[in-house]
Formats: sequence, structure tokens, C-alpha cells
Amino acid sequence: MKNNNNNEIRVRFAPSPTGFLHVGGLRTALFNYLFAKKNSGKFILRIEDTDRKRFVSGALENLISTLKSIGLAYDEGPKIGGSFGPYIQSKRTEIYKKYVQELLDSGDAYYCFCSEKRLEKLRKDRRKRKFSLMYDGKCRNLSKEEIGKKFEQKIPYVIRLKFPKNGTTIFYDKIREKVEVENNLVEDQILIKADGFPTYHLANVVDDHLMKISHIIRGEEWLSSTPKHIFLYQAFGWEIPKFVHLPLLLNPDKSKLSKRQGDVAVENYLKKGYLPEALLNFVALLGWHAADDREIYSLQELEKLFSIKRITKSGAVFDLEKLNWMNSHYLRNLGLELVAERAKPFFEEAKFDVSDKEKYLKIISMGRQRISNLSEIVVQTEMFYRNLKFSKEDNEIISEENSQKIYSFWIKEIRKFQKLSDEDIANLIKKTSEKFSVKGKNLYFPIRLALYGKCHGPDLPIIIDILGKNEVIKRFQNLIIK
Ligand code: GLU
Repeated sequence: MKNNNNNEIRVRFAPSPTGFLHVGGLRTALFNYLFAKKNSGKFILRIEDTDRKRFVSGALENLISTLKSIGLAYDEGPKIGGSFGPYIQSKRTEIYKKYVQELLDSGDAYYCFCSEKRLEKLRKDRRKRKFSLMYDGKCRNLSKEEIGKKFEQKIPYVIRLKFPKNGTTIFYDKIREKVEVENNLVEDQILIKADGFPTYHLANVVDDHLMKISHIIRGEEWLSSTPKHIFLYQAFGWEIPKFVHLPLLLNPDKSKLSKRQGDVAVENYLKKGYLPEALLNFVALLGWHAADDREIYSLQELEKLFSIKRITKSGAVFDLEKLNWMNSHYLRNLGLELVAERAKPFFEEAKFDVSDKEKYLKIISMGRQRISNLSEIVVQTEMFYRNLKFSKEDNEIISEENSQKIYSFWIKEIRKFQKLSDEDIANLIKKTSEKFSVKGKNLYFPIRLALYGKCHGPDLPIIIDILGKNEVIKRFQNLIIK
């Protein structure tokens, strides 16, 4: 058996670009990345785009930019290259042709000339009889002459794997341990399609071997394909990599995570203002947990702690509430400047001028306490960037005699200060309360409305600090009824 690599850990994320990065894909990418980091190995990105019917233009660029935004850098792959490229399967078609020829020569693959019409009828019949929809092997044993004749007649063909009909395939999965599959349940998989392109199965195995992949870490949905892959490795005489099939991702109702029940595109979470740190932390816990069972981990911590042994077998529930909680945690605890930077595009889109950095940072410091994702930050803080709008009820409060008296008093008092400290504000509130015999709602609502546009909100010293003395006076003046 040819030795695949010198014990170097080499893992890959091998998405078929569908136009967006699925959260399940992100989990696979992250687990591969963490395993590579933990073991000083290499993390490779390989694009499996041999299904030309599913081609989506821009999908590759989108995928690469999403991985970049989220912070998962790969060691080899498209754009950056590496010693085992190209890393895009549609650029490797000649390689697959050479290998499929080897299989034809050794009798491990065969030409199949069955028409789509025949296959459709076959499936229909089998469905009726409640049989599995497998190909019946009609072309498995065609003679050289028969094949030659069909070539002459230019009948389109595919190339299929000649999977053994008897016995069982046994393989080991690091999470499921021993897996046994009866061979008669496995189909003669198409390896080369009528368009000449390989299917996932052939290209995947050939590339994993040529790229010296040591561990295949992928979703559980590929477990049923593994016997076919094992057979291919054996047919080529290649060393079989280690398999790690990650547990399924589930909706809260335990059904398979689907688009129908919510968003599954990582890009959309980023667009909505979920932080990469929170998304990675959340996804890391989908089917894995550390020995200490904490919830919050930075990527650097995960790189040290990750181990395949702690991956669970049972499905992992994608709980949006937990993601929201985690995102709020990161919004409150990451560096203020970093959060401010990430929030900028949302303000730019709202056309707010955030060039006064000191003011902007104060606004972010207040706003980040009140949101669970960045797309909510503008709604929570826009009152500092635009003129206030008042409802009919607001105007009733503003025009009350009591309110008007408070406004005039505050304008007069605030003018006396260069800058108001929290203590100055507390004293002013006390003084106002005593002078006009008001407290609670009657005291706070008119002031908050005048400065913040709402009766409820952050503490007054915070609001006043953000607005600054002059703006505070201006906001009161605007409401004085002459
Ligand atoms: N191209 C497959 C996918 O889209 C990769 C499966 C594997 O990792 O082997 O998920």
C-alpha cells in the first residue's frame, strides 16, 4: 500500500459552491481548521464544482470572501495556491480521466450505456415494488465487442463503479467507530457523467489522495457514500484516510436543519450584524464541547482545546436564541473600537456622519448594551444623529406647564457649567425636583423626551454626555413654546 503522507495532519474543507456558505459548511470548515491548528497541520480549501448543472456564477468568490470575513484562513487553496493545486476540481478534469482509465483497465469500473429513459422507467418500477432505487447493473458485464459497437453507434455513456455485490464493507469512523454496510445495498456509483465530468465520488477520492489528506472531517450526510470511497481507495491501492463524520445539524423541532425554518446562509448572519467571533463560538459548540463545559471561547482558545474525542454522535440543535445571547455577549465584551469599526457600515448605510470619533465611541458604548446584533444599533442610537420626531402623546407631555418650566430651568442652569459631571446632573435633578415639587415620571419623562425622543432609555448622564452641553441646550430650546 502506498503511504499517503509522513504523518503530517492535512485536512480539507471541500464545499460545492452553491452560492452561499451554509452554517453546516461553516461548522465543517471550523472543525477542520481547529483540528489542523491543534495538530500543527494544514487546512486546505478545495472547491468541488464538477456538477456543472449547479454552477452559480460568483459562488467561489463569495465563499472565499465569507471565509475571510469570518476569520478562517486556509493554508492551501484557490487564490493562494500550494504544492498540490489546482484546488478547483473543474480545473483538474484531465487528472480524473487518467484515474478512471486505471479503474476501467483493472475491471473496477465499467461503461454504462443505459439511456435516461430506461433509468427513469427502472426507478419507477422499483419505486412501485418498494425496492431501493438502485441501478440494476445491466451494463456491468458487457463484452468488449458490445462496448465497441455502442461506441461506433455514438451512444452516450457514463462510467460506473463496479461495486462488489457480495460481502460487507467495514470501515472505522472516529466518532461512530466500526461501521458495517452490506455491499448489496450499495449502488454502482456513476464516476464519470455523460458530459465527461467526474462525479463528486471519484474526484473527491482522487483529490484526497493526491492532496495527501490524512483525515476526512465532513458532515454525517456523507457517511452512506463512504463504502464507495473505501472501495475506490482499495481499487487504486491507496492508503485510506481517517474518517470523522460530524453529527447532523437540527432545527429546534429536531428535523434536519433546513432553509425553510430559518436562515442557513452565513453571509446573511454577517449582514445582519452577527459578529464573526460569536458565529464561530456558536458553531464550535454544534456537536462539540470542551471538558470544562464553558460556553464562551475565543478562536485561539478553541485552537488549543479542540479534540475529535469530544465530538458527539447525536444531532446538534441550531438554537437561534443561543446565538443571539452569544452575540450580545460579544457585542458587550469585545474591544469598543473593534465593535465601533464593525458597526460603521450600518451607520454609513443610514447616511449618518460618524466622523466625530469621540461621540461615535460613546454612542457605541451605550448602544451595544441594548442590542443582540449590529443591525439594531442604528435604531437604538439614531436619536443622537438626527432631529427628534415626536408623536401626539409626546407633544402633550412636552407642552405641559410642568415640562416647560423644567426646560427653561435646565437651560439656565446648564449654561453655568463648562462640562457636566454625573454628580452635577444628579444635583440638578434633585434641585429640579425640590423647586417644582415633581418626581418620578413627571420629572424624568419630559427631560428624556426632550433629549432622547423617548420616555425610556439609557441613564440621563449617559445621554447628556453623548450630546454635550450645547446640544442639550439646543434640544431644550427647540421645545420651548413661546
Ligand atoms: N463537496 C462535498 C460537499 O459539498 C464535500 C463532502 C466531503 O467533504 O467529502 O459537502
